[in-house]
Amino acid sequence: MLGAVGTDLDTGEFVVFDADVVVLAAGGYTGLYGRHSSRDDENTADGPALAYQAGAALTDMEFVQFHPTGMVGDRYGDDWDGRLVTEAVRGEGGRLFNAEVSASDASGDSGEPGAPGGERFMERYSPDQMELDARDIVARAIAGEIDEGRGTEHGGVLLDISHRDRDFIEERLPRMYERFAELGVDMAEAPVEVSPTAHYGMGGVVVDDDGETDVDGLYAIGETMAGVHGANRLGGNSLAETIAYGAVAGEAIAERLPAPGGDSDVLHDRARVHLRDLRALSNADGDEEPEALLDELRELLWERAGILRDDDGLAAGLDRLERLRSRAADLAVGDRTSRSYEFALNLGFGLLGADAVLRSARERTESRGAHYRTDHPDRDPGWRRNVHYRRDSVGSPRLTTTPVEDPSEPVQAALDADHELDYHQLE
Ligand SMILES: Cc1cc2nc3c(=O)[nH]c(=O)nc-3n(C[C@H](O)[C@H](O)[C@H](O)COP(=O)(O)OP(=O)(O)OC[C@H]3O[C@@H](n4cnc5c(N)ncnc54)[C@H](O)[C@@H]3O)c2cc1C
Repeated sequence: MLGAVGTDLDTGEFVVFDADVVVLAAGGYTGLYGRHSSRDDENTADGPALAYQAGAALTDMEFVQFHPTGMVGDRYGDDWDGRLVTEAVRGEGGRLFNAEVSASDASGDSGEPGAPGGERFMERYSPDQMELDARDIVARAIAGEIDEGRGTEHGGVLLDISHRDRDFIEERLPRMYERFAELGVDMAEAPVEVSPTAHYGMGGVVVDDDGETDVDGLYAIGETMAGVHGANRLGGNSLAETIAYGAVAGEAIAERLPAPGGDSDVLHDRARVHLRDLRALSNADGDEEPEALLDELRELLWERAGILRDDDGLAAGLDRLERLRSRAADLAVGDRTSRSYEFALNLGFGLLGADAVLRSARERTESRGAHYRTDHPDRDPGWRRNVHYRRDSVGSPRLTTTPVEDPSEPVQAALDADHELDYHQLE
């Protein structure tokens, strides 16, 4: 590894980092979805895209976790669209209802004390676990209700905890209670409207046990890397992972430092190529607004590689992505301190990340974890494999698969143990 180049977004100056080891820690890729729980402009696949461009492999990009309960923008305003309604609301007894009012509901008898009307639909999807079933199951159930026309007029379903005492809600769910109160909803009296939102990308960069990619000296940690959470992360495990694997990578890097000095001339030669591209990107005087193309990309992924996927949709998504990519060659960009320059950089990373998601999701012709194919709804034991996405010798993406190894003994023992979930530590 020789180092990295970047732009100081305050001054527009380029920065060249002469470094023997580079650690990518730029988050994941769920910000590429139309509805997502991250802050705006984060998780746009920067880390995975940079690793791919450096020659490292990505894996599991099709596994995208959709949190069942995001706020509904049409009800609470665009700024809130997709933001999380914590899992704790369901953990504390919150119940999900669709908006279909039956004859019994209309007469005030929905069968649920204090219920807002509508059907408590999780009975049809998961009669034992109900609202507390795994995220993918609850998210799919909600998406199904909305798709089949039983959602609210704002495109959500109802999450209701008004059967609990006000004191209980205030004490156990203070942030949610306050947030909705500010938006004019009293959770002790009325339900809130929710629908699924892209929340966590299980995929990312392939790393070894030290966090190193297959490019010597290039490491990845946190949501940028893949492999820790399988096909479906358990809530709460990401922050534990960032700390644990951050420490592992840090120790491994400390052991190899000081490394023999890199060749600064080679770095500067290579950097020149990147800086030329970045220079061409800033002040580009084409016709397409980078922010608008990013929004289109988000809609594309939401529609074509969302909670429910199939081959036709994924193929159509790849075609549309190709058209977006051609339009992205004709950008209108300001100088290197402008927001449009940031959007243009994110668009570049996002186009690559979206391609990896669509192609990997198309490749996996089964349903597993967070990846659900309506044309292949069952889990296929033959697909106990990881899909890898890497650059071939002429610079095009190539997909390969490798078998998933059996868990180590300690991991298997942990899987077999009868752990309980505390919903106040999850997200
Ligand atoms: C609303 C919400 C609630 C969550 N709650 C929980 C929870 O309770 N428990 C849990 O375990 N997990 C939770 N998660 C998931 C968890 O927060 C993330 O997976 C975790 O923060 C990822 O950490 P990270 O360091 O890899 O990436 P991030 O925390 O995303 O940090 C990446 C950083 O890199 C910067 N960056 C990105 N691109 C570039 C670039 N090109 N150049 C320079 N810098 C860049 C970003 O600005 C950011 O500061 C939650 C996620 C969300 C969105």
